[in-house]
Amino acid sequence: MIEKTELYINGAWVASSGSELAQVINPATEQPVAVVTMGTAEDVDKAVLAARAAFASWSTSDSCVRRDFITAIYQAMLRRQDDLVEAISTTMGCPPHIAASIQVAGPTEAMGQYAQRAQLMDQEQQAGHSRIVREAVGVCGLISPWNYPLHQFVAKVAPALAAGCTMVVKPSEQTPLQDFIMAEIFDEVGLPAGVFNMVPGFGASVGNAISQHPDIDLVSFTGSVAGGVAVATSAAPTVKRVTQELGGKSPYIITDSADLKAAVNYGVDNVMLNSGQTCSALTRMLVPKALQEQVVALAKHRAESLVLGMDDEAFLGPLSSSIHRERVRSYINRGVEEGARLVTGGIRQPESQPTGFYVTPTLFADVDNSMTIAREEIFGPVLCIMPYDSLDDAIAIANDSDYGLSSAVWAEDTESALVLAKQLRAGLSYVQGAGFNYEAPFGGYKRSGNGREYGDAGLHEYIELKSIQIA
Ligand code: NAD
Repeated sequence: MIEKTELYINGAWVASSGSELAQVINPATEQPVAVVTMGTAEDVDKAVLAARAAFASWSTSDSCVRRDFITAIYQAMLRRQDDLVEAISTTMGCPPHIAASIQVAGPTEAMGQYAQRAQLMDQEQQAGHSRIVREAVGVCGLISPWNYPLHQFVAKVAPALAAGCTMVVKPSEQTPLQDFIMAEIFDEVGLPAGVFNMVPGFGASVGNAISQHPDIDLVSFTGSVAGGVAVATSAAPTVKRVTQELGGKSPYIITDSADLKAAVNYGVDNVMLNSGQTCSALTRMLVPKALQEQVVALAKHRAESLVLGMDDEAFLGPLSSSIHRERVRSYINRGVEEGARLVTGGIRQPESQPTGFYVTPTLFADVDNSMTIAREEIFGPVLCIMPYDSLDDAIAIANDSDYGLSSAVWAEDTESALVLAKQLRAGLSYVQGAGFNYEAPFGGYKRSGNGREYGDAGLHEYIELKSIQIA
């Protein structure tokens, strides 16, 4: 059993002012894998004090200094890939070979990409008699969820470091271990004390203390809509900048001239990856009514071929917790009750996996956009197949959602897919089976959030623009 009983504040491992411990459960074995000290509001105060003290020198450091630290962090992450994979795999339940590619390799490369972005802070712009310069926002509070814990850590910490911000980081109570490894890395590379501080803890205590702290200038939150609203509400009296990366219910339009098999396989894999626990998952597959049965047959074949488990053959691990599995099962029941056609999957524990919080890949057909399973984020391996009459109808259904995080189109060719993609009210769109791009901005419209992560846009969230008028 791993024991993590210290927090990382002001460049040192220190005891919490509280004594509460939380068990971290391995979702595949249902056994505890770690106990972690849960910090307190007092710990947040100490961390903010350290971050504030470090801000003056870090924010004015030469951008080459910050670039070199980020490069050293990237290189240390490369050395610790196996530790990072194990930390994530054992706490959130992702098969190690999948965790290595989607949970660790991608964010590691993204950290490396931010090294060069430190120098974007030196850019100045002349507008008439004004010089516009870039400065770091200040002390940042960075709050992450459990589903891609290193991805979300890097999305926030890398641009904050590049911009010259200092920070207090809170991992999810379910997946804190990779943040401890990252703190060890920052310690090892000699990042100046106070630049990075980590206080693990619960949302209602540590998360809330960060959101409402008067000496934090920006809070970046990734998680549920309810959590994002709570953070923004707590943050409002201190008028800090708030960025929110929240949920999704993303549409995927397949047209009648698409390569149907390739398009359907892409859609099924997209939803089942990470056991459906992906905010940008394409969970509403919109297909021409006349092709629905062909799509159902192809999707059923693909979904039933995906292996559950934690070994090298597996595509899906368990869900993150037993509570979450119950939530997903209740959505599946709701789908049946509301009249959707259950094609495969369901609520029974898969026979191949008697232990672990598994849910079998589940497909619904004949889903109407008014059904609960089409409107609410399920965050499990559940795909809704939804028939449409015309492309105008498809666009209308796609945009009829409280969310607007991701979307996708597979049409006859890229040009016709782009015409549709531009009509979708979402921050992301994938056409003709495209993959994720860490250089591009990531973020949502509507209740999927505010702000962008990754790419140059991710850095901009951590910048204050100053206009200097020159006589
Ligand atoms: P969650 O909202 O329960 O928790 C997220 C984090 O916020 C945790 O660290 C938690 O401790 C903290 N928190 C909870 N309540 C808080 C409060 N009142 N004040 C401050 N902090 C609080 O979400 P989760 O279950 O960990 O993550 C799943 C959700 O995250 C899904 O809805 C998913 O769509 C979303 N998500 C969004 C993105 C994105 O980039 N848009 C990425 C990943 C996950």
